[in-house]
Amino acid sequence: MLADGMQTVELRKWRVRSDPDLTREAYARIDAGAAETCGCEECFNFAAARHLVYPPDVLELLEWLGIDPLLEGDVERRGCLEPGMHAYTVWFYLVGEIDSGPATVIAQSGGRTTSSLEDAGEGVGVGFCSDASGAPDAFGGLPVIQIAIGVSAPWVSNAPEPLDA
Ligand SMILES: [Zn+2]
Repeated sequence: MLADGMQTVELRKWRVRSDPDLTREAYARIDAGAAETCGCEECFNFAAARHLVYPPDVLELLEWLGIDPLLEGDVERRGCLEPGMHAYTVWFYLVGEIDSGPATVIAQSGGRTTSSLEDAGEGVGVGFCSDASGAPDAFGGLPVIQIAIGVSAPWVSNAPEPLDA
C-alpha cells in the first residue's frame, strides 16, 4: 500500500513513513476543516486566526506530508496563555505509519497526563499519534496516523475571550 510514494520523516523521537500523494488525494475529498465544522466560538476563533499560527517550517512540513493546513481533522483550545493569546492543539490525519517512536503524544507520568510534543521552534510543538479512529471517510481503507501540532493563536473573534489559566 505504501510502497510507491512512500517517504520517511524523522522528527526527533519519531520515524514515520508517509505517502504524501495518497494524503493529498484524501484532502482533495474533504470540504472543510474541523475549526469550521465544529461551530463553537473557540473553534471559530481558530479558523479566523489560522493564517497567523503556523511558522513557515511547519507549513513546509505539512506541505511535504501532503496535508492541507486549512483542513485540520480536529482542534482544541487548551487554555489562555495571556490575555489575547491562547494555546491550541491541532490534529491532521495523514496516510502513513509510525515506524518508531511513541504511539501517542499523551504521556503519563506519576499519574498525571501530559503532552509530549517535540519543540519545533517558535513556540510550536509537533508529534505523531497512531490512533486515527476518527479519520474521515476520505481516508477509508488506508493506513492513517495523525500529526499533532501545538500552537499559540491570538483571540481575534468578537465573542467574549475565555480567560482561564
Ligand atoms: Zn469547537
